[in-house]
Amino acid sequence: MKSRWSDAEARRFIDQYAQKGVAEDLALRVYTSRLLGRDPALVQHGGGNTSLKTTAPDNLGRPVKVLCVKGSGWDLGDIEPPGLPACRLEPLLELRCLNSLPDEAMVAAQRTSLMDPAAPNPSVEALLHAWVSPRYVDHSHSNAILALADQPDGEARCRDLFGERVSIAPYCMPGFALAQLAASTFDARPEAEGMVLLKHGLFTWGEDARESYERHIACADMAERKLAAGRRTVAQVKRSLASTTNIAPVIRGALARLGKPMVLDHRGADEVMAFTAGADLDRLAQAGPATPDHVIRIKPWPLVLPEPGPSLTGIDFAEAVEAAAQAYADRYRAYFERNNARIDPKKTMLDVQPRVVLVPGVGLYGVGASKKDAAIAADIYETNIAVIGAAEGVGRFESIGEFDIFEMEYWSLEQAKLGKAKEKPLARKVVAVTGAGSGIGAATARAFAAEGAEVAVLDKDADAAKTVAKAVGGLAAPCDVTDDASVAAAFEAVVQAYGGLDILVSNAGYAPSGRIGEVSDKVLRDSFEVNFLGHQRAARAAVAIFRKQNTGGVLLFNASKQALNPGPDFGPYGLPKAATLALMRQYAIDYGADGVRANAVNADRIRTGLMTDEMIAKRSAARGISEADYMGGNLLRQEVTADDVAQAFVSLALASKTTAAVITVDGGNIAAAVR
Ligand code: ZN
Repeated sequence: MKSRWSDAEARRFIDQYAQKGVAEDLALRVYTSRLLGRDPALVQHGGGNTSLKTTAPDNLGRPVKVLCVKGSGWDLGDIEPPGLPACRLEPLLELRCLNSLPDEAMVAAQRTSLMDPAAPNPSVEALLHAWVSPRYVDHSHSNAILALADQPDGEARCRDLFGERVSIAPYCMPGFALAQLAASTFDARPEAEGMVLLKHGLFTWGEDARESYERHIACADMAERKLAAGRRTVAQVKRSLASTTNIAPVIRGALARLGKPMVLDHRGADEVMAFTAGADLDRLAQAGPATPDHVIRIKPWPLVLPEPGPSLTGIDFAEAVEAAAQAYADRYRAYFERNNARIDPKKTMLDVQPRVVLVPGVGLYGVGASKKDAAIAADIYETNIAVIGAAEGVGRFESIGEFDIFEMEYWSLEQAKLGKAKEKPLARKVVAVTGAGSGIGAATARAFAAEGAEVAVLDKDADAAKTVAKAVGGLAAPCDVTDDASVAAAFEAVVQAYGGLDILVSNAGYAPSGRIGEVSDKVLRDSFEVNFLGHQRAARAAVAIFRKQNTGGVLLFNASKQALNPGPDFGPYGLPKAATLALMRQYAIDYGADGVRANAVNADRIRTGLMTDEMIAKRSAARGISEADYMGGNLLRQEVTADDVAQAFVSLALASKTTAAVITVDGGNIAAAVR
């Protein structure tokens, strides 16, 4: 590991922030915090923290000594000056005379010390940063340091490597007690450049930003070099014949039965494959986290599944997964009860669902309430695999004990990092929308995303799909609903991205016309390919995933007014749409017992790619009325929009007891009303 300090970059930070009135020392604190935060071998997702002791003016312009320390909710990798809120230093220093301080009182004291009451909460390690006196303090969970410090003889190994250069402190629960331990460790040998906290990570300090940062890198580099001797090349591991698209929905379904639905994020790098196939998997997977604050993201241990060999891809594998998931939940409950009995006041148990699933021959799945959370869990477990691998290369990986893990997992200050925002109605649900690159499909993708769903944007036009997917933070997949292989590939991409599917909005279509006695078979056949078989292909692919998950599912079809109230010369469009309405009812009948609901939206006169401004002008002119009167030619006298149709799809997705129904969204047209 090399220092990435650059004088030119440092100067750029100083100049850029000077324009915003930020002092040089804080600009450099931002710079080196980002250097630490952007190296995944040092810091993962919100981990680590940094600080600076400086002065800031109070309301009367008098300089006050302050500690600028990382605020909660900020990531070191993209931190800005407001992410390092200033706390008055003096009141924090005074707290050192106490023997102990409850967590809530500590948080309150830290908040009270803020210069700006609107600033984020200072890091839970703020007192440690205050009591260790050098101006700059840097803390990371360096993989290499952890590989040496997560050992039964970690202290001897670190002492042997670092000599007097850094101090070494035993594991201690973060918060007030750790601040006391770190401060007394510092005071005992203030000449040390930093401190290894066994089974936790590394602190370094210095009088300027570069010194503290480069001491950090130097220590991590020494540890990396020490580990190099034990580094093994990662062997190519045989991958299971069962593709993740076959087994992910089985896993996702089993996890949903333990609580709320979850989203999965698959990883299959060589290191992951080697770990999950390793002879020591059972021991290493149960060994605990590489550093304590990982536990809130990955739980005390992952769920380990059997390898889905040829005999395990079907019913057998599903049964094995179900049994393993239930056993995980039982084990988690027992762990909670055993440890909760030791503390007072009592805690409320979190959910019993694993956050990481390991499958030999397939890889690992991060598990979370959203795609983002699942990816964070996967990233953090990949980091754990790296640390465990390096530790085992030179010795034997050892984490903190079970009770320490429990204290960390149920520490209120750690839980606060996860946030408590109320979930949106379609959170944790995966929805695929066909024809989502434009018109009603795009509006539907936006509407589902706004309700919290994970959205896969499927469209024949790959670029259009990408544009919409980017806007809704979802997956883009090219999908031509007339092509079996294209549909299969699109739904595989959905499962690869999210682990499964809960809702299909089958929307792709086009609107050919022609007088029925004179239209060619080709026009009719082509329309049936898209406007009927296209819906069937998408629905069949969705139902195949629903059945593997065994958690029900929702099929929503874009029917049309033409299905119920055909218009002149619109047979080539209306006939397959009428068949699609019947298709919806058939799915409702055949899969109702599996918990699959099927419904349709009957929309009319929506300004989209199917009904262009040009067509509207032509039709209104033909009727001798204005465009507004034509578009609002309904009982409500209002134009109906793609967003109105999208809301109807959302309503049907949420209507948990409604199946085989048609919702009309046309502003009121008695001739087209369902009868
Ligand atoms: Zn830490």
